Amino acid sequence: MVNPRGRVCRCGSRGCWETEIGSSAVARALKVDSGVEVDLAERLAEVSRPSAGLRTVGRYLGLGLASIVNVLNPEVVVLGGMLRSLYPVVRDEADAVLETSALTAPFEQVRVVVPALGGDAVLVGAAEKAFEAVLADPAGVLATACRDARAALGTAPRRRAAVATDTKVPVQAKASVPA
Ligand SMILES: [Zn+2]
Repeated sequence: MVNPRGRVCRCGSRGCWETEIGSSAVARALKVDSGVEVDLAERLAEVSRPSAGLRTVGRYLGLGLASIVNVLNPEVVVLGGMLRSLYPVVRDEADAVLETSALTAPFEQVRVVVPALGGDAVLVGAAEKAFEAVLADPAGVLATACRDARAALGTAPRRRAAVATDTKVPVQAKASVPA
């Protein structure tokens, strides 16, 4: 939950991340008539200066990202689905709230990225991240992998990337954003 005074969610709760930054929230912010089929990604791509409503959505995006960063401590957050189109438009608002709401250490090491590809961009982005280290230092990664394989017999590997989309929201935030 990111907004205690937010809209009622389909889950029965109120002000969930999904209801505050999901497709219907973006459609409202873009003043798209409900019931009209529009490509929100296309509409977002046309926005040069985000409206007040869209900037509010951006602040809730940042708040949700902060909770992901605080809980999972990832090196990278890959924004997929509609968030891939939303984030570039409201980056200033999202980043500002992320910076003030995230814990310092996790914030300093995390990167929020938008995959450049369409379709399977979320999975491709996660895979790219996984292979990045291999491409940079194959021998070192192999040595580490051997060590990790032995260690893994006892412990689970550390999570390195978090993926967030408008349809798959991994965690819930606890604070609210002033509008
Ligand atoms: Zn909900």
